[in-house]
Amino acid sequence: MGIALLRDAADRAGRYATELDGRSVFPTNSALDSLSVFDEPVPDHPDNPASVLAMLDDFGSPATVAMSGRRYFGFVIGGSLPAALAANWLAGAWDQNAGMAICSPISAKLEDVAAAWLVDLLALPAETQVGFVTGASMASFTALAAARHAVLAEAGWNVEDDGLFGAPPVTVIVGDEVHISVLKALSMLGLGRNRAIRIPVDNQGRMRADALPDIKGPTIVCLQAGNVNTGAFDPAKQICAAAHKRGAWVHVDGAFGLWAAAAPSLAHLMDGVQDADSWATDGHKWLNVPYDSGFVFVRNGDALRAAMSTTHAAYLVETVNREPCHFTPELSRRARGVETWAALKSLGRSGLAEMIESACRHAKQFARGLQTAGYQIANEVVLNQVLVSFGDDDATRRVIAAIQAEGTCWCGPTIWQGRSYMRISVSCWATTTEDVEISLAAMIRIASQTA
Ligand SMILES: *Cc1c(COP(=O)(O)O)cnc(C)c1O
Repeated sequence: MGIALLRDAADRAGRYATELDGRSVFPTNSALDSLSVFDEPVPDHPDNPASVLAMLDDFGSPATVAMSGRRYFGFVIGGSLPAALAANWLAGAWDQNAGMAICSPISAKLEDVAAAWLVDLLALPAETQVGFVTGASMASFTALAAARHAVLAEAGWNVEDDGLFGAPPVTVIVGDEVHISVLKALSMLGLGRNRAIRIPVDNQGRMRADALPDIKGPTIVCLQAGNVNTGAFDPAKQICAAAHKRGAWVHVDGAFGLWAAAAPSLAHLMDGVQDADSWATDGHKWLNVPYDSGFVFVRNGDALRAAMSTTHAAYLVETVNREPCHFTPELSRRARGVETWAALKSLGRSGLAEMIESACRHAKQFARGLQTAGYQIANEVVLNQVLVSFGDDDATRRVIAAIQAEGTCWCGPTIWQGRSYMRISVSCWATTTEDVEISLAAMIRIASQTA
């Protein structure tokens, strides 16, 4: 393969990264209009890879959203740590199939190491098994498949062999603020999103432990660590205790909130979360590794393996090692453990804690600044999420649109308990106090002119 082409790619990527924080966070209209160059029929003849790359950079790069930049506060979106991005490029050149240890010993090794580090850093039970998946959605799907296996096995039913027709019914309990990805997982697993019993929540979106119904028979309870709007944590201690007394499985969607465990000043939020049976989290959000990356954690490794193992195929050679494909829905896949390892190796325990804590400090800085300017903050800022209103719903929506158009930073809208808010989520490793000041100044100026 031409080294010149890879150098060219590295130069272009380097230029992109350098210019990222100086440009409008959302692409300009002219950059978006230029995307029409990609509308062409199937090329009849080969093209030179260098021109393919040049076209991609010339027209593609300006049309990207500066999502890995320091002032992108939309959704819950991390950037890419330098070591993680660089490792991702090298791993791209390796082009390893991470599904089986025999295909890629290096990928399997780094998954083993990163899995053990994650379990340690997130303070999960030592026996917890880990799968490297695309994100928290797939992590919840995988964990809930393990849960479905375990609660039905307890009732004498093998769901992998015999399916759900004729199986004992499985009760699923979720909070009223359950994330859509958990409902999607339930729908894909044949557990049905409308069958789930929804428990009322308090004013921060936390499930009310006192509203938990009587648990009988095969049951899965889904908790949340880190509400996508408020950042709030469900009362895991009480709910895990009540659920476990009746033999239920407790799953935690901790797409970003689980990382609180890695920061001493926030670890109290995780009180009782570690009592659960399975956990889902993202790598591409708060760990700041490139898309796509998520982790499923299951305390009972046998249940995870039972749910994810394939039936035997003669050509797939199994080694004595941990076989990555027995922990995920995929067989062939990319080597996500590589950049996970690189991120954790470059941060260390203290660097990870500081990355999580600084995002939370910045969220508090946003809340203080906006409140001082006279705007209402709707949530207790316990983590990295802030909900702010700029007046009535119309005013808030107009201010959000104006902030997005102005380009200093980018935040999205949300509806919280029936009202419109702007949602600020601080998840990028590179965001500084100065970025927050610059963004606050822009928000307050735009709000005073617009609202
Ligand atoms: C983002 C998020 C998810 C889904 O994660 P993906 O990485 O998009 O699959 C699930 N739950 C919560 C609370 C989230 O914030």
